[in-house]
Amino acid sequence: MIMQKLFVATGNRHKTKEIRAMLGDGWKIEDLSSHPHLPQPEETGAIFAENAAIKAVAASQALPGMLVLSDDSGLEVDALGGAPGVISARYAGVGAGDADNRNKLKDELAQLSRQGAAQPFTGRFRCCMCLARDGAVLGVFDGAVEGRLLLEEEGAGGFGYDVLFVPDGFNNSFGTLPAETKNQLSHRARALAKVAAWLAANQHND
Ligand code: IMP
Repeated sequence: MIMQKLFVATGNRHKTKEIRAMLGDGWKIEDLSSHPHLPQPEETGAIFAENAAIKAVAASQALPGMLVLSDDSGLEVDALGGAPGVISARYAGVGAGDADNRNKLKDELAQLSRQGAAQPFTGRFRCCMCLARDGAVLGVFDGAVEGRLLLEEEGAGGFGYDVLFVPDGFNNSFGTLPAETKNQLSHRARALAKVAAWLAANQHND
């Protein structure tokens, strides 16, 4: 089998793991963990697509000829006006970890709950992926999964806000549902399906 090479411009091993599982065996995938010297540009965009492009373009400039994929993603909560949105990774402040960000979200939702806000709290995960090569954007692809937010964490799987998010049509959080289920319906799965279709149509077999 000819292995196709793809560099995923992320240092988030959870994203890489999901992308690997979803793309399957035909791909040799590396990420920033094996290229720690690569530039990690500041994510200054106001929307996911801008940040995805910033990350893919920067990595592709540093890796001549390499097909590069980036993933910018996050959680939008309707009752919070779409927050945390593009700052999902640093909701509790610069340098915050996943647990800090979840604690901040739980605090915000608990406060809304005490104020009598309508429940369930609806929201969605969004993912925007960008393909680039040699500094040029080849395509931008997005995906979303709708669901509701829990006030308390459920499960221990996944990463980020997974333990607080129940996708529509299910009764359990992404932290409880099997990884295979998440990888069939997640925001990342939906964006990646569009990437795969683009790659198939454009025959990137190198
Ligand atoms: P990014 O690395 O700037 O794209 O930030 C993504 C952040 O959004 C992560 O740190 C998580 O907090 C959150 N996020 C994105 N995708 C997921 C997911 O699939 N599950 C849970 N949290 C996610």
